Amino acid sequence: MKIIDAHIHFAAHAHFDQLAREAGHSNDLDALKVDFDRLGIVGAIVMGNRDLTLESHSYPGFMRYCIGLDSSNFGETAADAASVALRQVELHLQRASCVGLKLYPGYNSTYVYDPMYAPFLELAARYDKPVAIHTGELASSWGNVKYSHPLTVDEVATAHPRTRFVLCHLGNPWLLDAAVVISKNPNVSADLSGFLIGRQNMQEYFDENKNYLDYLKMSLQYMQAWDRLMFATDWPLTNLGDYIEFVAGLIPAKYHDLVFYENAKRIYGLEF
Ligand SMILES: [Zn+2]
Repeated sequence: MKIIDAHIHFAAHAHFDQLAREAGHSNDLDALKVDFDRLGIVGAIVMGNRDLTLESHSYPGFMRYCIGLDSSNFGETAADAASVALRQVELHLQRASCVGLKLYPGYNSTYVYDPMYAPFLELAARYDKPVAIHTGELASSWGNVKYSHPLTVDEVATAHPRTRFVLCHLGNPWLLDAAVVISKNPNVSADLSGFLIGRQNMQEYFDENKNYLDYLKMSLQYMQAWDRLMFATDWPLTNLGDYIEFVAGLIPAKYHDLVFYENAKRIYGLEF
């Protein structure tokens, strides 16, 4: 089975290095390529959180990227910063290697339906590239989780019907809320990244988290959107082999080709 990982990070960072070691690998390209080849992962999407210059976003041939807009792009002079960022983002969207836009409303403490984001949402629609949004819990004590609640995406999915959205992390732990947003809005998909951090004994994990996993499976069943869910990991924070086992255990076998490969290929317009 061919696999696409629809959400990784690719950055030299001491914190990522540490998390990678805890997950049983090292945070470098060689280690990633060895694991990808061994596991049949043919391509990946990097969620960019570097600056907006074009030079900062060149990646190996088996990677594409979403250009990320974090709080540094919306500083104290938000309006000015946003208009500069809009021009920069368009240059990225014109590139074949840039397959989408990534927003972090929780970390920016700004709702995704704030008017500041609207020009970016329209721009993404014009290039027919998805807007991936961090939804759910935050990996920090700063920022505010109310801004990353998946229900906030319903607002923009309705107001911008031509824009396609991806709920990163399926809004975890607001899984049923994410499910209703996806089931209501045909322009919303989700990636399944970020559920496991570090290295797991998978049998123990499945045994110890049975109630939580039942809730996750129930949410997946409720939305019945097997053509809009994407395998994704959040590498280097997690172990790729564990993660494949995790997702394979969640998704009915008849939908594996869609979730592990076909959906990401279609949603992000990939040629892997
Ligand atoms: Zn991530």
